Amino acid sequence: MTMQQLTGNLFMISAPSGAGKSSLIQALLAQHADMQVSVSHTTRAPRPGEHDGVHYHFVSVDHFKQQIEAGEFLEWAEVFGNYYGTSRHKIQQARQQGIDIFLDIDWQGARQIRQQEPSAIGIFILPPSLSALEQRLRTRGQDSDDVIAKRMAKANDEMSHVDEYDYVLINDDFQQSLASLSAIVLSQRQRLAQQQLRQAKILHQLLAKSSD
Ligand code: 5GP
Repeated sequence: MTMQQLTGNLFMISAPSGAGKSSLIQALLAQHADMQVSVSHTTRAPRPGEHDGVHYHFVSVDHFKQQIEAGEFLEWAEVFGNYYGTSRHKIQQARQQGIDIFLDIDWQGARQIRQQEPSAIGIFILPPSLSALEQRLRTRGQDSDDVIAKRMAKANDEMSHVDEYDYVLINDDFQQSLASLSAIVLSQRQRLAQQQLRQAKILHQLLAKSSD
């Protein structure tokens, strides 16, 4: 196996806010040492409790623009006046080590990634119902009805892109969803093309013997 082969898979996980995406990703990562979530770059200032390299890589606008020029981002976007981007290099590095990478990303970011990395696997997480989603948004924050209505509209917009994804999870029962997510991710590793990279030596030995 050469260092250039990408033995780790790239997963894009999208969901409307309140569907439980972050908790599912964190729970999955806690079970598997060889899976990581991609840490984005941003030009916004850290919020209290946020750490450089953990929540984001916090960089200056100049630095970010240089990175764009150098083609360092798989995708990037300007959100509320700040830049956000996904570093190509860090993802590549991890995948070369056999680490599966998760991008916590919206449908627009996922579209950009697909253009650059057609092998990226899309997973969409849905709530069990609109009323359950609204309930989760209400219990989560202290938002006014107005804000909740806006979040629900944004959730509808996000969900309208579900057909652009490879897998769909309906997050009704957390443990069941976690098992399903784990099954999706682990099954990708058993695909023939992946096994030919990950287990090249074993396959070579087995096949050499069987053709004797
Ligand atoms: P926040 O500043 O609240 O952490 O994030 C603001 C917005 O930026 C969120 O909608 C978040 O999904 C988006 N965002 C965070 N990282 C990235 C990224 O790497 N690429 C893109 N396109 N959006 C991102």
